[in-house]
Amino acid sequence: YAKSAGGDALRFFEASMQTAITARATLESELHAALAGGQFVLHYQSQVTSEGHIVGAEVLIRWQHPVRGLVQPGGFIELAEETGLIVPIGMWVLETACIQLERWSHDPRRRHLRLAVNVSARQFRTDDFVDRVRDVLQRTGADPTRLELELTESLLQDKVSETIDKMQSLATLGVRFSMDDFGTGFSSLSYMTQLPLNQIKVDKFFVQSIGIDPKVELIIQAIIGMARNLDLEIVAEGVETQPQFEFLQAHGAMLCQGYLFSRPVPLDQFDAQLDVEMAN
Ligand code: C2E
Ligand code: MG
Ligand code: MG
Ligand code: MG
Repeated sequence: YAKSAGGDALRFFEASMQTAITARATLESELHAALAGGQFVLHYQSQVTSEGHIVGAEVLIRWQHPVRGLVQPGGFIELAEETGLIVPIGMWVLETACIQLERWSHDPRRRHLRLAVNVSARQFRTDDFVDRVRDVLQRTGADPTRLELELTESLLQDKVSETIDKMQSLATLGVRFSMDDFGTGFSSLSYMTQLPLNQIKVDKFFVQSIGIDPKVELIIQAIIGMARNLDLEIVAEGVETQPQFEFLQAHGAMLCQGYLFSRPVPLDQFDAQLDVEMAN
């Protein structure tokens, strides 16, 4: 009896493995089709000063799937990273953001805006990453100083000197760097002085503990203090409530991003937010 139950369990396991493998293969080929077929879109989430002024936006990718509708990055970025498809997808994101920056540069009421682009470690580690960014900037005519690349601490797990060299080459062009999800990864604080960083993003995990966990509040204050002393700009992400915003303002976070101000929205809606701000 036990043996047959084990056999059934094994058959069940094999069947569900097979289903998972098939689903993965389907998703992978759909991702290829999505890239070729222009199914990716960027949503823009504003970043605001403590006075509420919009200084720019983070661009976040979404997949307009022909059947499933709008798919969030959680549904495909991981597989894109595993398969390497994140490299061409990431270049598409970068190019699209740069085209937008160049368009804004002709509009006196838009030309001050910055765009933050997420760069996955896998993409950053490609040999020709620096050349390709330089190439996109040249082709699109975007002002490099308006472009901010968001990196994650996973880049600091190995080959750190290569990472620093690449960042330095791009920083020379004027490109800015932000450390995303700060404090949640594996980075050693000793790298903080070695990297040509301009900004750190306090992860929403910390922000969402404001008013709930006093110890986490102390950590946020320490992060903000460290960043200020190192002359780094601070962005708090995942700001959802007024009390969170007030805490962050009181403790010197410079920029905030989160649902309290806006969800990530399509370009036309972001543009409308800018118009509203200009009218005030
Ligand atoms: P991330 O870069 O840390 O982006 C912030 C995430 O937090 C976004 O999720 C955003 O929609 C969400 N968020 C913003 N404000 C709030 C808030 O107030 N509350 C809560 N609960 N969430 C908030 P999203 O768009 O689902 O993206 C998830 C992750 O996918 C991103 O995390 C980033 O790591 C990755 N990702 C998104 N777009 C790209 C891309 O173009 N390239 C790469 N490589 N990764 C991307
Ligand atoms: Mg980000
Ligand atoms: Mg983040
Ligand atoms: Mg995140």
